[in-house]
Amino acid sequence: MTFNENAKLDTSGVQKRGRGAKTAAIGGGSIGLLIVAFLASQFLGVDLTGLVSGVDTGQQSQEQVEGTGLEACQTGADANAQIECRMVGVQNSLADFWETESAAVGVTYERPGFILYEGQTSSACGTASNAVGPFYCPGDSSMYVDTSFFQLLTSQLGAKEGPLAEMYVVAHEWGHHIQHQMGVFDTTNRTDTGPTSDGVRIELQADCFAGSWLGAAATTETADGVTLLEPPTREQVDVALSAASAVGDDHIQGQQGQVNPESFTHGTSEQRVNWFVTGYEQGTGACDTFAVSGSQL
Ligand SMILES: [Zn+2]
Repeated sequence: MTFNENAKLDTSGVQKRGRGAKTAAIGGGSIGLLIVAFLASQFLGVDLTGLVSGVDTGQQSQEQVEGTGLEACQTGADANAQIECRMVGVQNSLADFWETESAAVGVTYERPGFILYEGQTSSACGTASNAVGPFYCPGDSSMYVDTSFFQLLTSQLGAKEGPLAEMYVVAHEWGHHIQHQMGVFDTTNRTDTGPTSDGVRIELQADCFAGSWLGAAATTETADGVTLLEPPTREQVDVALSAASAVGDDHIQGQQGQVNPESFTHGTSEQRVNWFVTGYEQGTGACDTFAVSGSQL
């Protein structure tokens, strides 16, 4: 997806944190690439549940917040050229989308915290490292995006495909924020696994919300009314679909050996693609994954 070069970016909703006391464990060369391959297969599969097992909750170290650190992110051209600015642009687009769409899903608009970090940072859900991948923390209503993770992801997927995969992940995490506001996490058992479990329904709904945003992304605007993103091409939509497909439980488990539906946490590739397309074509009103029977999920 391409940003309108002249659109002005608003960095006020994005916080950038410097490196934590402990630096990133990702090395260079082949080890780094192996880790990326693993992370790429896990991304979207590590939020919420992954976080619980992946964090050191005993650590309370506070990090220095260095200004905004995002002064270079002025326009859509910057977003097209640079990862951090692209995250600002996506945040701007999602904020604009949900500002109007929140009412449709029955919640008051509330912007989640949006924190860019490298290496390691603290959250209300514990200490996050880039081994965790991007995630949403309900405890402080914030999403945490490790930009070095995305840099490696893009270097794996290619400059053409990487950015849209990044945007899809961020839109999915924002979907969890909407669910948090809707009270979904209070009324469901998010540790439940299996093909028709609450855990899978939660993830598929977040996919549907991500698709809803993509369907409307070309209509989102900056504060001064300039269109932020150009409409996605068919090829770009296909990239988002393949990203959704790649993170299906059956696909990931198949790569690792045996597929065991009872341990599904995010849904199959087919389900993830279907719900993403449902949101893309029909909008948020069609995203009630809790209302459908198991066979329609
Ligand atoms: Zn998720």
